Amino acid sequence: MAAAAASAAAAAGESFPRDPSAAAAAPPPLLPLATLIGRELRGGDRSERPAVRYGHAAFAKRGEDYFLVKPDCLRVPGNPSSSFSVFAIFDGHNGVSAAVFTKEHLLDHVLSAIPQGISREEWLQALPRALVAGFVKTDIDFQRKGEVSGTTATLVVIDGLTVTVASVGDSRCILDTQGGLVSLLTVDHRLEENVEERERVTASGGEVGRLNLCGGQEVGPLRCWPGGLCLSRSIGDTDVGEFIVPIPHVKQVKLSSAGGRLIIASDGIWDALSSETAAKACRGLPAEIAAKLVVKEALRTSGLKDDTTCLVVDIIPSDQSVLPSSPKKNQNKLRSLLFGRRSQNTVGKLMNRPASVGAVEELFEEGSAMLEERLGKNFPSKANSAPFRCAICQMDQTPTEDLPANSGTFFSPTSKPWEGPYLCSDCRRKKDAMEGKRPSRATVLSR
Ligand SMILES: [Zn+2]
Repeated sequence: MAAAAASAAAAAGESFPRDPSAAAAAPPPLLPLATLIGRELRGGDRSERPAVRYGHAAFAKRGEDYFLVKPDCLRVPGNPSSSFSVFAIFDGHNGVSAAVFTKEHLLDHVLSAIPQGISREEWLQALPRALVAGFVKTDIDFQRKGEVSGTTATLVVIDGLTVTVASVGDSRCILDTQGGLVSLLTVDHRLEENVEERERVTASGGEVGRLNLCGGQEVGPLRCWPGGLCLSRSIGDTDVGEFIVPIPHVKQVKLSSAGGRLIIASDGIWDALSSETAAKACRGLPAEIAAKLVVKEALRTSGLKDDTTCLVVDIIPSDQSVLPSSPKKNQNKLRSLLFGRRSQNTVGKLMNRPASVGAVEELFEEGSAMLEERLGKNFPSKANSAPFRCAICQMDQTPTEDLPANSGTFFSPTSKPWEGPYLCSDCRRKKDAMEGKRPSRATVLSR
């Protein structure tokens, strides 16, 4: 109990621009009485509800990294046995306003896209789709403010042994499981390293190239134009083409009963350390110390080149006080089997693989930037309680005040009609712009 409490409230809902002193451990927290009582009452299912402990460390250069820690969210209001935890990192660029706005609103937008009154299993199944809706709504709302900053967003939801990660940008989340298996739960949305994203941006009307100095010399990483952003997905970036989309890569896994450790960090860490190096640097140590060690190792390797933020989150079976520290080398093959690069066709086969000791069961993975694929498939029957509720912003509309529902796109009458759920006119406009079927705001301004 003490261990769980120590992780719990420390900085509930808090995050702030980093400064060197932020690397200090969070103070001992207090848990709401209802939560403690709930845990006592739930004594019987201890093995089902692992403890979650976390640590945070950061070093600021420009002060554009933000993070979010919410260890005691409830699926069902007033029911402590429905608790889940949320951790997130937002690495801003061109100012902090997009990172701050996303930190304040993203989680609410995601949760409001999940139907009420459903079981835990249905809730977990609805989560990937709600994450897509929440990311897109946050982007639309922020762009209405007309500010130019942007941010990465990596949001992690932990419910029991089920971990769901949604991300845009390049703030990675890695998983270190018992046996020393390190795997990446996010995809880097960087134009330089992601050929699929380069092709998508180009097909949607963007140009990809390096910065051109006087005399034609090309320097730096690949960027998209207009805008000059190195990322292919982000929230905000109103002055960049709409082909820089806020649609997250989502991965959902179920850990074995041995639990595991997550390391969520901004690119200040990952530009300096590989996933393996970061995991090894802190293995076997408590989360609070582990986070500091990862940041220290990154600074030692590369110096302070960028904002550097790290969250370490341990998911610990309740019959265990610390995570195991000794990796077993013979499980390396299993890692590549479970987490090696593969085509989408093989994902389905792996999804049916039963969880074995020490292995991670993959429940869901999808990274498409096409909203129809993200919102239209596996549509939960209970999710559409109102026939004209927008699947992204959750606003109810009467069809008379809009074009007929799902009438396809305005600018591409030849493309096949929209077969996804109902979208309001604003969200449909956003969808068309992201797919290059409508001039983006930035393009309009530059003409
Ligand atoms: Zn809408």
